[in-house]
Amino acid sequence: MPDRMTERHRMVATQIEGRGVRDPRVLDAMREVPREAFVDPAHAPQAYADRPLPIGEGQTISQPYIVALMLEAAGIGPRDRVLEVGAGSGYAAAVASRMAAEVRAVERIGPLAEAARERLTGLGYDNVDIRHDDGSNGWPEGGQFDAILVAAAGPGIPDALRGQLAPGGRLVMPVGQRGGAQRLVRLRRTDTGFERDDLGGVAFVPLIGAGGFADPAAPRPAPTGQAAAIARIAEPFAGIDDDFAALFDRFADRRVILLGEASHGTAEFYRARAAITRRLVSRHGFGIIACEADWPDMAVLDRRIRQRPGPLPAEPPFQRFPRWMWRNTEFAALVEWLRHENAGREPEDRAALYGLDLYSLGASIDAVLGYLDRHDPEAARIARDRYGCLTPWADEPAHYGSAVLRRRYDSCEQAVALQCREILQRGIDGDPDSYLDAAQNARLVSAAERYYRVMYQGGAASWNLRDRHMLETLERILAARGPNARAVVWAHNSHIGDARATAMGRDRGELNLGQLCRERFGDEAALIGFGTGAGTVAAADDWGAEMEVMDIRPPLPGSWEALCRETGIPRFVADLARAERLPGDLIERFIGVIYRPESERASHYMEADLPRQFDAWVWFDRSSALEPTSHGGDADPAARADPEDAETYPTGL
Ligand code: SAM
Repeated sequence: MPDRMTERHRMVATQIEGRGVRDPRVLDAMREVPREAFVDPAHAPQAYADRPLPIGEGQTISQPYIVALMLEAAGIGPRDRVLEVGAGSGYAAAVASRMAAEVRAVERIGPLAEAARERLTGLGYDNVDIRHDDGSNGWPEGGQFDAILVAAAGPGIPDALRGQLAPGGRLVMPVGQRGGAQRLVRLRRTDTGFERDDLGGVAFVPLIGAGGFADPAAPRPAPTGQAAAIARIAEPFAGIDDDFAALFDRFADRRVILLGEASHGTAEFYRARAAITRRLVSRHGFGIIACEADWPDMAVLDRRIRQRPGPLPAEPPFQRFPRWMWRNTEFAALVEWLRHENAGREPEDRAALYGLDLYSLGASIDAVLGYLDRHDPEAARIARDRYGCLTPWADEPAHYGSAVLRRRYDSCEQAVALQCREILQRGIDGDPDSYLDAAQNARLVSAAERYYRVMYQGGAASWNLRDRHMLETLERILAARGPNARAVVWAHNSHIGDARATAMGRDRGELNLGQLCRERFGDEAALIGFGTGAGTVAAADDWGAEMEVMDIRPPLPGSWEALCRETGIPRFVADLARAERLPGDLIERFIGVIYRPESERASHYMEADLPRQFDAWVWFDRSSALEPTSHGGDADPAARADPEDAETYPTGL
């Protein structure tokens, strides 16, 4: 009878310590657990060999060294709660159970889960619980874990597992191709997000399930026809992480990358755009993030992330409906990340946030007057007089347009245009950022004045004026930031997808920012659309109404969304330049801040030729509603009174 204990100690000394694993708690636990109890009796003589061994059902118990390496990387403490995905024989869970307070392990193959449970009970390891399930969803009702070990390789780190990692927690997982190149990755949850390190190349069986690869045994009809054409160019991804963001490196040499969204209330669209933006900023030198938001509101956030001085806002930004568009957990996390990223950079290299929209009549008037008050009180007095023409309408500017149209009020066009010209003629006065801000606000007053007048004329005029304003603003920002400046733009698909490829352009005479960027920047612009099939969305049923979490209806037959569903690929990026034989026009769904499921076909679908509309398309078969960080009227009066605290306004986004 061989002396298993001696073999075990030798294994630890040569295979584990000998390769550099030092954590004494890992070494002790490896010396304690009888590995021979976890392999088929026929393989017991090889239990301490330096390799994986079969455990049935086509699966293996991992090589001892990789188990030790992952446990050491996970830094498991005696009070920790641990989750293992891919319990297999139960061996790694058993070793972890000697180091932690509690271990939960999930195995997708029923007989393996059952056998592992019996072994652990037989050994009297009573702080381990094994469940038969898809572990790529984690252990959803198990709270958060201090360490998560994943013993199978996925295309990325599943979002569900990230969410179940406690603050300060560590997740260790192989990431890469099925049966191909894989890297062992460690993710640490920090106060501001996640930090990731690469622990080297590895080879694991695939993680199969919702957050991993498709089950090859599952009966699924292969997509045919047009869906097959999409499936051929689809590049699947699991989590929204840096691996996902790396799929967009192909566009990283462009000057302008426009990121769309099929609704204004889908968490995945924000999270995905944030991941892409972080990568473009941190690795590819993008320094401008320009959003479909009001300039003065974004300026407040910009001052925060670039630590620029500036006037304190009278109230927190983004008070206007629809607040959730920018006051949500996903965008707040990006703002914090930008602040953190910028803190280590010289002021001129800091990434900046800008608003491209023109709904800020009142705030822009205040901003111009504030600037002039600080620099030239006499000019401020004249400006006050000119802007006085618009003051009665600052809260309800749409009424101004109607009054002018009915000739009940004289147009303020001359007065605001004159004021704008004067500010522009002044030239830079002191800090260039403050001047850009004041000049842009003066232009905005002019643009908004015109916008509210043409709004009542009907047709495409006001839409076109708004998107032209967005392009001009983007061009000015690029010019102000120098010849190498590059921008990421966040706006709805209806602004970003080339209008000429949709019924907007062809039937309604509307142009948009995406089209204008292609005309202006040619191949230096990349237009990226985002779509979803089902789930929930944050939206209102009327303008100004309360935000609700609504169910999204399944896509209509004959839509791009129905075709994407038919591919059977839950999440993918499609590089549309590679598309062959895709249909021309199908209908495409556009959910804005308003969603009216009962009249969906008329209210939300429009003909579009997707491969001409976008350069790439990002698909989430299921998605969930954005989570607002606060509901209206939540300005903290104490913060308003105390300029020190007013700094914290944007954190309450
Ligand atoms: N840690 C195991 C041990 O000590 O024996 C070895 C794990 S083996 C390398 C990988 C395991 O992951 C296989 O048993 C496989 O069935 C399982 N697996 C793959 N995808 C899974 C998923 N989505 N959920 C749970 N287990 C999964």
